[in-house]
Amino acid sequence: MPPEHSYAETALETYRRAGYDAVEFWCVGDRRRCGAWNRFKIEDAIARWGEGTMLIMLARRGRCRICGRRGVHVQAVRNEHIPGTRNYVMEDIQRYREAAERNAKARELEQERERQG
Ligand SMILES: [Zn+2]
Repeated sequence: MPPEHSYAETALETYRRAGYDAVEFWCVGDRRRCGAWNRFKIEDAIARWGEGTMLIMLARRGRCRICGRRGVHVQAVRNEHIPGTRNYVMEDIQRYREAAERNAKARELEQERERQG
């Protein structure tokens, strides 16, 4: 048995292991004018972008196929979730914020260690 690799918290493989079924991409443009979205099965997303790819990376790279706007909202979903609901999006934003805070703290500690040589 090969060793179990671990991936970043928001990596596609982490979501797959946690039982998520799909990844959704939502246009961040004006919803009245566009509102486009697309859904990939989590296995297909992994085959396409790689198991270690984080949602934030896809969000930054993405571009709406319909209106051409850059940057998309990306979320992993389970079947029982009603995709794109406000609560779910807010939870997702909260998770990103928490991850960003943890990353910032880790960077600070690293810089502190470098200063101390
Ligand atoms: Zn769009």
